[in-house]
Amino acid sequence: MSNQRFKALDVLLERKPREVALPEVRVSEYYGENVFNISTMRECLTNKAFKSVKNAMEAGERIDRSVADQVATAMKDWAITKGVTHYTHWFQPLTGTTAEKHDSFFTPIEGGKAIEQFEGQLLVQQEPDASSFPNGGIRNTFEARGYTAWDPTSPAFVMGTTLCIPTVFIAYTGESLDHKMPLLKALHSVDEAATAVCQYFDKSVTKVKASLGWEQEYFLVDSALYNARPDIMMSGRALIGHAPAKGQQLDDHYFGSIPDRALMFIQEYEVEALKLGIPVTTRHNEVAPNQFECAPMYEEADLAVDHNLLLMDLMEKIARKHNLRVLLHEKPFAGLNGSGKHNNWSLSTNTGVNLLAPGKNPKSNLQFLTFFVNTIKAIHTNADVLRASIASASNDHRLGANEAPPAIISVFIGSQLTQMLDNLEKSIKAGKMTPEDKTELKLSIGKIPQILLDNTDRNRTSPFAFTGNKFEFRAVGSTANCSAAMVAINAIVAKQLIEFKKDVDSRINKGDKKDEAILKELQKLITESKAIRFEGNGYGDEWVKEAEKRGLSNFKDTPRALDIMKTKPYISLFEELNILTKREIEARHEVDLENYIMKLQIEARILGDICQTHVIPSAIKFQNELIRNVKGLQHVLGANGKKASKVQVSLVSEISDHVIFIKENVDKMVDERKKANNLIDSEDKATAYCDKVKPYFDGIRYHADKLEMIIDDEYWRLPKLRELLFTK
Ligand code: ADP
Ligand code: MG
Repeated sequence: MSNQRFKALDVLLERKPREVALPEVRVSEYYGENVFNISTMRECLTNKAFKSVKNAMEAGERIDRSVADQVATAMKDWAITKGVTHYTHWFQPLTGTTAEKHDSFFTPIEGGKAIEQFEGQLLVQQEPDASSFPNGGIRNTFEARGYTAWDPTSPAFVMGTTLCIPTVFIAYTGESLDHKMPLLKALHSVDEAATAVCQYFDKSVTKVKASLGWEQEYFLVDSALYNARPDIMMSGRALIGHAPAKGQQLDDHYFGSIPDRALMFIQEYEVEALKLGIPVTTRHNEVAPNQFECAPMYEEADLAVDHNLLLMDLMEKIARKHNLRVLLHEKPFAGLNGSGKHNNWSLSTNTGVNLLAPGKNPKSNLQFLTFFVNTIKAIHTNADVLRASIASASNDHRLGANEAPPAIISVFIGSQLTQMLDNLEKSIKAGKMTPEDKTELKLSIGKIPQILLDNTDRNRTSPFAFTGNKFEFRAVGSTANCSAAMVAINAIVAKQLIEFKKDVDSRINKGDKKDEAILKELQKLITESKAIRFEGNGYGDEWVKEAEKRGLSNFKDTPRALDIMKTKPYISLFEELNILTKREIEARHEVDLENYIMKLQIEARILGDICQTHVIPSAIKFQNELIRNVKGLQHVLGANGKKASKVQVSLVSEISDHVIFIKENVDKMVDERKKANNLIDSEDKATAYCDKVKPYFDGIRYHADKLEMIIDDEYWRLPKLRELLFTK
């Protein structure tokens, strides 16, 4: 049989788990061995050079040329001992993935010989010919050059035979062309703002770092089946395919034992991740069949972002060795759970205090409350900024789709902390507070740790939930670079803390005692930000109505969610904090829209393609067989033939109905696509794709899936979802 689907299934029958030679030593013996980290540097560098790099890492100080030369040579020598031949500046262009361009260490010298060479100049800055990365117009109007510049805060590492040097990617004019530069700036802003607020509680705090612990969800499918599905290959998701009879209703996959083939793959990428210093600790099956999750220990946000990108890259590379493909898409299979990347976020001080964990006494708890309430207020004021940071064509399928967090941003804190905030709001007196008032307040604030210990009710439907000692931003998509979300959170919290500090100081100047000023300001913020707090079911229809009453936004699609980027408050937020300029924001808006357009354009093309070249031909072939059968029956049975061929005749016309619907709608979709393509303005184009092209997808799919259910299995050429999802 020439059916490509059966061929793929045949290949699958031969599959065996790939044997992986796992290290025989303990993790602690190889953890970080492929990283040019602090301890390696201490060994390879002179004292002076080591100090200079450390200062650059911690305080952002410049590294001079002679030190750079020394670091470069040490890096090269270290890398060569690991079999490395090439180096690359590793950066994060706005495509969402990472980019690298490899150059060899070897340099020919006189006499037909060669040496291995790597100079400081090449470490510090390069000009990759990367003109086709999206830049939103920044590189069209100005000098077209783009530079990569070494980011010493993230250590260099070895991947295969290449030394990778983490860099930022900027235009000749200094404008950022990547995800990393604004993140570093946002982290700096939140550090400054939070450190200033910490001074109310502890003068020894000199630095506040944002931490990020991401949880990466993904699907695995066999590569033979994957290759037989043009839609999954090109767009990362199944554009058609009837839901399997058994989906995830039984929950038998969730936290179940990991199938052997998947486990071999997981173990292999975990070892490689650990060698790269990525502290992966958790692995388990997820809700949907063939869906899994990987989570590391949290780290400083910028390093955690790098590590997430590296891990996604590793997963894709290693999956191929196992004849598997990783689907990082937010919604590869309609009707089954999608994949997210929960971003667990917190702030901690150089004195080792987690600012979002309740402390041991009323004073440290007041500090906790300060950061807790300010974060909630930041989300309240800037929910739309947060929503825009996670907007993408693929995440649109997930947000609000009855399983993932809704597109409405709200904050969940649990019933006990809600009670706590309600009490505080009521008990803080407007005028001068008496000593009794204060004692009472201190007592109730002091109770927080006990409250949290048994505060285990977690609301899985909330997009932004407090989980004991951190907030968990659950609406981030599985394909996303976490930077965008981290830039947004840290920027809005920085801005809020700056305002808080200003308002508290002004109360103090007017005669309030410090604690009183803080409490009164917190009370104000609690009252103002109430609308953003929601403890109920985020998936329910009632919430949509209730949220509307509260005046909360509900942007269901990317073009609308991105609209905020044009507004004054959005631009001033990022300009004031010196994170992004108006021009950089405009460029990013443009890139995000272009990305959205391209994703939908590709999907629309493939959907048309597979309908015309797979679905309709399969349907017609089976229909022909039915027609032959009907004719034969009438020939053999004469007058009785009509009754005997009743089912076949009705199937013939049912098939025609579906085929007609599909063909007509594919044609209309193509027309709309052409119209959209003729639009010049990206916003118009994105909106046209969203409102005019995309609405055809579901109808076409519905009829294609109906055909899948009536056509002889032998004629169906695309692997079915049950085959993609249930083969181990
Ligand atoms: P789950 O949400 O799956 O139940 P956990 O809540 O236990 O899992 O942890 C999820 C992630 O939160 C882990 O990656 C963990 O390292 C991270 N995490 C824990 N504490 C912090 C923190 N202070 N800041 C950021 N992330 C944290
Ligand atoms: Mg979680």
